[in-house]
Amino acid sequence: MEKLRYERPIIRKLNAGLVNKFGTQARSEVVSHLEGASVKALIREYGSPLFVLSEQQIRRSYQNMSRIFKTRYPKVQFAWSYKTNYLNAVCRIFHQEGSWAEVVSGFEYEKALGNGVPGKMIIFNGPDKTEDQLVMAARNDSLIHIDHFDELYTLLRLSEEFQLKPRVAIRVNMDTGIYPKWDRFGFNFENGQAWNAINKITDSDRLNLVGLHCHIGTFMLDTNAYAIAASRLCELAWRIRDKHGKTIQYLDLGGGFPSTNTLKGSYLPGSDTVPTIDQFADAITSVILGFGFSKEELPLLILETGRAMIDDAGYLLGTVLANKRLSDGRSSTILDIGVNSLFTAFWYDHKVSPAQEGGQYTEETVLYGPLCMNIDVIRESVSLPLLNKGDHLVVHKVGAYNMTQWMQFITLRPNVVLLDHESHPKLIRKAETIESIESQEQIPEHLLINSLS
Ligand SMILES: *Cc1c(COP(=O)(O)O)cnc(C)c1O
Repeated sequence: MEKLRYERPIIRKLNAGLVNKFGTQARSEVVSHLEGASVKALIREYGSPLFVLSEQQIRRSYQNMSRIFKTRYPKVQFAWSYKTNYLNAVCRIFHQEGSWAEVVSGFEYEKALGNGVPGKMIIFNGPDKTEDQLVMAARNDSLIHIDHFDELYTLLRLSEEFQLKPRVAIRVNMDTGIYPKWDRFGFNFENGQAWNAINKITDSDRLNLVGLHCHIGTFMLDTNAYAIAASRLCELAWRIRDKHGKTIQYLDLGGGFPSTNTLKGSYLPGSDTVPTIDQFADAITSVILGFGFSKEELPLLILETGRAMIDDAGYLLGTVLANKRLSDGRSSTILDIGVNSLFTAFWYDHKVSPAQEGGQYTEETVLYGPLCMNIDVIRESVSLPLLNKGDHLVVHKVGAYNMTQWMQFITLRPNVVLLDHESHPKLIRKAETIESIESQEQIPEHLLINSLS
């Protein structure tokens, strides 16, 4: 039998909270395995920290969301938001499931082509498209979503010059009751900009206006904001039909649905507070179905859901480097996971689980990252059993934005492993090395001389 571990005694203040006289329950359950794969073995094989993604969870989330929308509306198409996670293996799972690609830069556009997405299934968003990229997208018959008047005029000129008639939509922003307003992208509805842009497009005959787009925010907690957005796009589509006799083929409601992560400062966990996808789907589809389009005229509904489709499928495994008592007596733990790899620690209170049995006592602990930087905090306060140097931890719901916004700061980015459809680990992005990072650097001749010896 394994020798029982010594547990240092602690004195804990009784914390009379709402739940019972012993305060809120703070039991942290041990997560030693992910889909049957041992955390310890994964770290032994691939190092620490380590990102792990679950293919099964990604497919489940996609299929679930797809079912929710398709049972409420006859024509639905998802487009994977590349910037949420553009590891090629991840994008290809979504494309296998039937997702188009939604990209916001030339770099992402090329990634989508590289992943085998036909040009006509790429939605090109964002305020930054070069002339070359616009021409390429037009030639590939992609859906170009125009962001501002300067882009519209450029595209009109290029279409004339290269004898093209690209399929376009405009991005529309509007007052959805969410403040501060997201009015920096696209054309404003209320001040008439959107209608003005539409008239310029339809009267020019150089562009084929096929859709209307909006993306009203991210981690949206109000389903009514989507109802307002959907009704504004319907109004525009209706006016286009009236004035120009042209049927708009699709309405793209963008992304922005929340994941079940807990925003910092929230009183209750995200899983208890965020609206369900069903509620968002109800809000959007009821408006479009009720607007007055005939069955044949109903526009295709496109969704560019990112965060809500992948956050759950990502884990970050890490290791305890040290424990430290802070000057005010609080307990703190230093991990090898910092904000360089877990960018979302800036706005989420991520759920953290120990990966092995600890003691029965828990203590409020600050979790620090390894960086020499004061803001490198993973959790300001989390209740965990006593951890020892070398113990492992699992951070949950990290699939969205971390693997695109991670920083190469002080140290190198870690391996990323996919637990495939049979839960077998497959390396999908190699950890960086000093060679891979320095391969981009060049040293001027006169600095090659080393005067230290
Ligand atoms: C980022 C982005 C998305 C995805 O947003 P989520 O909040 O992750 O769902 C969709 N569309 C556009 C235009 C975006 O910029």
